Amino acid sequence: MSLDRLLSDLSPDVARILDGALDGRELSIDDAQTLLESQGADLHALCRAADLARQDDVGDDISFVINRNMNFTNVCYVGCSFCGFARHKDEAEAYDHPMEVMLEKTADAVSRGATEVCIQGGIHPNKDHTHYREILETVKGAFPQIHIHAYSPEEIDFGHRTSEMPLSDYLRHLVDAGLGTMPGTAAEILSDDIRKQISPRKLRTQRWIEIVKTAHGIGLPSTSTLMYGHIESTRHVAEHLGLLRDIQKETGGFTEFVPLGFIHEKNVLFNHMGARAGSSAPEDVRLVAVARLLLRPHITNIQVSWVKMGTKLAQIGLMSGANDFGGTLMEESISRESGSQHGENLPAEDMRRLIREIGRTPVERSTTYEIVRRFDDASLDPPSLEPVQKREVSGPTRWRLQRESVKTRERQPIGESDATALALLGGG
Ligand code: SF4
Repeated sequence: MSLDRLLSDLSPDVARILDGALDGRELSIDDAQTLLESQGADLHALCRAADLARQDDVGDDISFVINRNMNFTNVCYVGCSFCGFARHKDEAEAYDHPMEVMLEKTADAVSRGATEVCIQGGIHPNKDHTHYREILETVKGAFPQIHIHAYSPEEIDFGHRTSEMPLSDYLRHLVDAGLGTMPGTAAEILSDDIRKQISPRKLRTQRWIEIVKTAHGIGLPSTSTLMYGHIESTRHVAEHLGLLRDIQKETGGFTEFVPLGFIHEKNVLFNHMGARAGSSAPEDVRLVAVARLLLRPHITNIQVSWVKMGTKLAQIGLMSGANDFGGTLMEESISRESGSQHGENLPAEDMRRLIREIGRTPVERSTTYEIVRRFDDASLDPPSLEPVQKREVSGPTRWRLQRESVKTRERQPIGESDATALALLGGG
């Protein structure tokens, strides 16, 4: 087998597009659609090209942020068909956290090294704009050092409408109270054809654009996102990416792009409306790679969502054009309640290990991508700030430890260090 075969297996269209992208030529929407449909050798070449582009754009570091998700309420009347998180206000599982809980969660996050809290919630019918500002004032007042990344354009839309202020004034009113950046969520697919089907009561494309551009215009950056793997076509995805690129050319206000795979198991969109069962692994990786090539040089931070993809596939995404592992999160319920089983907390030490496993260097960043700390030498890593976890073991070791534990208790009062060791092994 000759190495030439690697190139000769590529379809001419894909080879031409990748060649142009690596030469710095801007991809068209048609080009992006072609790449989003690539398979086999074309897909492998796409991933390799995106990885080379990533190296040229941002180097070999992989960044992550230590943060905590805080959903202040799960009560929401919007009724998006893809959402497993929202509850009716009269349901037993409905909650609306008082400020004391928000402060406790922030204090816990700070003690575990967080530099950011990410605050989002449902659209509660009994709230108005004052609630959003009160949360910011409370959290920022008690923890002035923490960066607050909060409120999707859907929440901003709701708060703005109840405030009766001009949009830019309303956003400044939130920034004055401590808002640092805004999640670019509630984007799903920025096409009203799709939005009318999957979330007919949610803000429309033009309103999302208006809110994001106004935020960027007053110096409030945001992330950018896309939710895929449901009823959208590759054309919708390509056009959505092109729209984000156009906004970024105009405002420069996006900090990153985050593709979010649809979690299908527990929601109406899959179970009753015939949507696909989320994205496939190739689709996840393909989207990361196409985003790198289409968005460069305007958006250069491409994030993988470990909650949606799982950590192993996220590693492949980081070898296919992405450069950011996202946040540690500490708690996560939006994906979990739709059926995700990839966990809620990915501590910094696990982030560093996963990054080193693919031969790259971990870097802790701020929300806006300033470097907080580099981790060039694993032997100099700081100790974990996570609470001690009980670790279950199975098999004969567990049985032996339990027997020894019983004997020890019979002979003498158990020492503190023995108790800790046994608790760690689930035998205490
Ligand atoms: S996605 Fe957001 S706006 Fe839509 S139902 Fe869920 S919580 Fe409400």
